[in-house]
Amino acid sequence: MSRRRQIYEGKAKILYEGPEPGTIIQYFKDDATAFNAQKKGTINGKGVINNRISEHVFLRLSHIGIPTHFIRRLNMREQLVRQVEIIPLEVVVRNVAAGSLSKRLGLEEGEPLPHTLIEYYLKSDELQDPMVAEEHIACFGWATHEEMQDISSMAIRVNDFLCGMFAAIDIRLVDFKLEFGRIWDQDYSRVILADEISPDNCRLWDMNSGEKLDKDRFRRDLGGEEEAYQEVARRLGLLQGEDGPGEVFDLSAHRSKLRTTPAKPKK
Ligand code: 5GP
Repeated sequence: MSRRRQIYEGKAKILYEGPEPGTIIQYFKDDATAFNAQKKGTINGKGVINNRISEHVFLRLSHIGIPTHFIRRLNMREQLVRQVEIIPLEVVVRNVAAGSLSKRLGLEEGEPLPHTLIEYYLKSDELQDPMVAEEHIACFGWATHEEMQDISSMAIRVNDFLCGMFAAIDIRLVDFKLEFGRIWDQDYSRVILADEISPDNCRLWDMNSGEKLDKDRFRRDLGGEEEAYQEVARRLGLLQGEDGPGEVFDLSAHRSKLRTTPAKPKK
């Protein structure tokens, strides 16, 4: 039996060559790192939960027309995705002051921002992901002006959708990080959403108690990270059995079943 080829190992995921050209298998690890990998640990079951949460979020985003790399979930820890040329930027969207923004500008954590902020950071472990301006992005050619327009409008649409999705389950979406990639069709490329969306790269606070339900539990040594990730999955309806009430109701399958099942005679 031949071993599949590993393409890349990151802090939380491993990428393997996919079954067809242009595809990749994304494997979710339990490893957790923070502060540019100065702090390392594991969160038991994190990979399994992030795989499910990210699948759920990417599917829902594709339903509102956001192009994403997600193809399908393969198993508990793996998903099949489209291979992209990663754009070397971390796109952070913020609704509420927290984390590095609070630190940099002396804002109290939890203060709602006057409007949504989008920030760009260069993906560089050696430089510890420095914040960059659109001027730098254009100057060094990391993305074109048109690509930045697509990225910023997608980031806003993702934020609007996710704020509503999380609010419906009593979770406040404080901030999150997105990554984008290019796919090529001959000489033309377009930008699609890549990477993952999970409690690893979002700040999610319980709407009532303010409790943190994300990776800050690990970053800040708060404990209970496994339970927090599970709670997000549970509220999204992802922890029931495969056919349980948490699954999305398949209306067309239901309709075709109705058509093939003879109606019961009325009593
Ligand atoms: P901050 O800049 O406040 O540290 O992070 C802002 C948001 O982006 C947080 O939700 C955080 O989880 C996410 N984020 C920023 N950089 C990274 C990163 O390198 N890895 C991960 N997993 N999330 C990040």
